[in-house]
Amino acid sequence: MEDGRHLIATTLSSSAQIHAKYGGVVPEVAAREHALAILPVVDAVLTESSLTLQDLDAIAVTQGPGLLGALLVGVTFAKTLGAALNIPVIGVHHLEAHLYANALVDALHFPALALLVSGGHTSLLLWRDYLQWELLGETRDDAAGEAFDKGARILGLGYPGGPEIERLARQAEKKSLHLPIANLGDTLDFSFSGVKTATQALWKDHSDEPEEVAYALQQAVIKALVKNVEKALNRYPVEHLYVAGGVSANQALAEALRHLGQVRNIHIHIPPTAYCTDNAAMVAALGYYLWQAGKSMGPFEGPHAVFPLV
Ligand code: ATP
Ligand code: FE
Repeated sequence: MEDGRHLIATTLSSSAQIHAKYGGVVPEVAAREHALAILPVVDAVLTESSLTLQDLDAIAVTQGPGLLGALLVGVTFAKTLGAALNIPVIGVHHLEAHLYANALVDALHFPALALLVSGGHTSLLLWRDYLQWELLGETRDDAAGEAFDKGARILGLGYPGGPEIERLARQAEKKSLHLPIANLGDTLDFSFSGVKTATQALWKDHSDEPEEVAYALQQAVIKALVKNVEKALNRYPVEHLYVAGGVSANQALAEALRHLGQVRNIHIHIPPTAYCTDNAAMVAALGYYLWQAGKSMGPFEGPHAVFPLV
């Protein structure tokens, strides 16, 4: 990555197919796969860029939150390389990094609202400037991506569930089934555990029409997300909304948000699908701004499995 915007080369190694066999991520398997992948991945990206290790000015690495075994592989590798090359290592917050997937497309516009919808998190932020934001609301239980994953499991679909639910929902015709969404009053928080239970009940009565149940689930999640974005816009009348995280790959959500954008006359920014789910480019993008701000990992600083946003 050059200048926080220009991606020179990128590569991705995924163990999703291995985890799919178990219906979810197995921590021990994830750690082993990271250990196997890290050297080939770095080698591949250097080859693709025609750069050598000596050309690097800094290394950005995901510091957390996440599975400790996987984080340890990345942080240990990055810190070892940083020490050997005598260059700074920048520890990046994974969720903040998701938002910087948007910086790969265009310069960021502030102030903005940010909707982070991933496999483990659902948060709404007021993004004031690079590296400056406030948390406005977050999920009290399950994340939006988790609602898709758990719903998919109820319907007997594969993992990850989001793309499977979306594919099935597209085939719905009647669109007459509905699932309730949580009412959390005046807050900008989210709750998705009820949707899971309601999906279970709906599936019992409608197991002959999986498309319709998938559609109802997708609509319920979208409605809950859009409702809080609207509430946030009433309180903070900004002109830009940034969306990020795996669930932002959902086209029905994108459509609903774009519609809202037209009605409210605001710009909706959603990263290209490849940068919605986990990737290294977004980590490098945020790493660049942290590096410019002089933030790097201290010698005794390690990964954080639990790493609150604030
Ligand atoms: P976190 O970032 O919170 O630590 P994660 O890194 O596992 O979690 P991401 O890679 O950002 O999460 O996103 C994965 C999630 O996105 C999964 O829950 C998956 O079901 C969901 N997802 C991916 N594609 C879609 C889609 N098209 N529609 C809905 N959800 C999707
Ligand atoms: Fe993620």
